[in-house]
Amino acid sequence: MENCLFCKIIKGEIPSSKVYEDDEMLIFKDIAPQAKIHYLLVLKEHFANICEMTESQAIILARCLKKLSGMVDELGLQNGFRLVSNKGADACQSVEHLHIHILGGEKLSEKMA
Ligand code: AMP
Repeated sequence: MENCLFCKIIKGEIPSSKVYEDDEMLIFKDIAPQAKIHYLLVLKEHFANICEMTESQAIILARCLKKLSGMVDELGLQNGFRLVSNKGADACQSVEHLHIHILGGEKLSEKMA
């Protein structure tokens, strides 16, 4: 997508603090972290949110989350982490390219919102 911020990051047109990349996903540091560790897991294929996701994209997302589960030590998340994916106005989604927030590195609040 031409004007999508995360597509530009994926293509390397906008710099990011990349921590992992493969053919299907990119994980990079959020520019405005909301926890000691705050990464974004972004699928390389563009779609806006979980409601726009096809069956085959859902399978890719599941595979990427499984890969993430094998990387927790190297990402500094061995004590736990929280995954969040905002969809739409009520959730304040600001980038219309599916992404999973990965929050951790400290004790997070019990209240999620
Ligand atoms: P959301 O509000 O759920 O759509 O999340 C979008 C996230 O993208 C926010 O947490 C922003 O801080 C983050 N963000 C925006 N621009 C950049 C950027 N250039 N590099 C890294 N993260 C970004």
